[in-house]
Amino acid sequence: MRQASTQQQLTADSAAKTSQQIAAELFPIEANTECKPSTGLISTDRGRTIDFHNHLPTEEALWNLLDSVPDPEVPAVSVVDLGIVRSIEYTQSEAGQDDTGQEAPGYWQISITPTYSGCPATELIENEIRGALQRSGVKNYAIQQQLSPSWTTDWITDKGREQLRKFGIAPPAGDSRKPGIAADIECPRCGSNHHKKISEFGSTACKALYQCEDCQEPFDYFKCI
Ligand SMILES: [Zn+2]
Repeated sequence: MRQASTQQQLTADSAAKTSQQIAAELFPIEANTECKPSTGLISTDRGRTIDFHNHLPTEEALWNLLDSVPDPEVPAVSVVDLGIVRSIEYTQSEAGQDDTGQEAPGYWQISITPTYSGCPATELIENEIRGALQRSGVKNYAIQQQLSPSWTTDWITDKGREQLRKFGIAPPAGDSRKPGIAADIECPRCGSNHHKKISEFGSTACKALYQCEDCQEPFDYFKCI
């Protein structure tokens, strides 16, 4: 079980085991099948090839698929690495059985937390996720917004932070309980902590614009919240 937040680890683990057991019962072979190449392959933006038209994806495969969905505002980082995708769980549908008395399959419940409330990118993010699922043939899913607890930069993964640096953005220094001071902010290009703040707002409201006093390059700093 992979879970985005360690805070919810225990409850999420128990829920996930149950949902995985349900999936294994309903799809005894497919649920444990690795993604196999077949006709009509989908190439994701990051070069992965995923096709779920003929079988139920595993939870891990869905995490990998969503890890190919770039954040609209910071395309170098995926919605998974930015911490927007909170959980993916298989849930049996409420009816349990279809009209013929056959057990009806369940659906994947995908919980996402917008980075900032009222952020115009939220709807775009949801559409991007929906598009990736549909292109890969994932049929039964529901996306729900989870507004509490609210998103924090603490949820950006280490891989996400590294990708921010490569993209020329200094990742948040410190954490939400103890945001870093200016000296903790490192220039993403040369690593120097000698810099000056040019503007409280960079390319987006969640970033501030700095200029490095060693390599002279301006850079965005992803504010710690
Ligand atoms: Zn520098």
